Amino acid sequence: MRATVVGSIHLDWTLRVPALPRPGDTVLAGSRTTSPGGKGANQAVTLRRLGAEVEMVGAVGSDEAGAELLANFDAVGVGRAHVRVVDGEPSGIAIVAVDATGDNGILVAPGASGGLAPADVAAAEPALRGADVVLLQLEVPLETVSAAVDAARAAGVPVVLNAAPARPLPDALLAALDVLVVNEREALALAGEGAADAESAAAALLARGAGAVVVTLGADGALVLDAAGRTAIPAHRVEVVDTTGAGDAFVAAIAAGVGAGRDVRDSALLASAAAALAVQRPGAQSAPTLAEAQAFLAARERTAG
Ligand code: ATP
Repeated sequence: MRATVVGSIHLDWTLRVPALPRPGDTVLAGSRTTSPGGKGANQAVTLRRLGAEVEMVGAVGSDEAGAELLANFDAVGVGRAHVRVVDGEPSGIAIVAVDATGDNGILVAPGASGGLAPADVAAAEPALRGADVVLLQLEVPLETVSAAVDAARAAGVPVVLNAAPARPLPDALLAALDVLVVNEREALALAGEGAADAESAAAALLARGAGAVVVTLGADGALVLDAAGRTAIPAHRVEVVDTTGAGDAFVAAIAAGVGAGRDVRDSALLASAAAALAVQRPGAQSAPTLAEAQAFLAARERTAG
């Protein structure tokens, strides 16, 4: 299965804090680590772990962080022929604060990722055309996302969009998606006024044309809405170490399923297992391999049965 991911590539600074800062607070962190991140890169790395051949379309700066981020793709085996190195720009960074309960708050300075342009998509057109699935997020400019969606549609390649962080989306873009994946906050923000809860937000987004809508609900699991109806996907009870990357693991596993031609509900079951393994490990690129996710799911099903 071949996947092409168009999106952000950032260096994460993870700070362990007793509590997330509120306006006016200064919080002293207990520890500080750096690791590769960015929703696009995280999802690309997860897709690779899940067994896909992956091409990344993105941009990094010509700084030390950029070199480290490219080396990470090489180490993991994600193709980076379409990752542009932008001379004189810094790479994107994210400050990820993780509190004692494993919850997080994130600040992003996109740097070179913010300059990813439709021209980069045009240059990567063969990688889009040749893919079994194209996966996107909203940490890069919307015009770039739209150009990639159009290119994938024109080639008949299924498109999965993780609309994070949320921003208003045109109906034409929603209608071009095979699967839209959002968390509860993003679902409510995208659906706008009138959506009282995650389910009504998902229904509104489905009505605007997405083929299927998946809303993730943290420890409460996820909800899948499509033409066949509504399916609740339970989360697995696990010991949480760091929820950073749970969403990315979930989204990538959905895209892996779509690329392999699987039903979105079956894909969501595997996604829930992948995310449950990711929250038990620190860092944003902590997703399991396909074998690990399948073994976890089988063990849980045996216990339940
Ligand atoms: P993040 O941005 O923190 O990576 P998110 O807000 O995009 O995450 P969530 O809805 O928090 O996404 O989580 C995605 C999926 O991860 C959930 O649908 C669930 O399957 C799994 N998950 C999240 N938190 C937990 C948890 N505490 N225990 C088990 N599974 C979890």
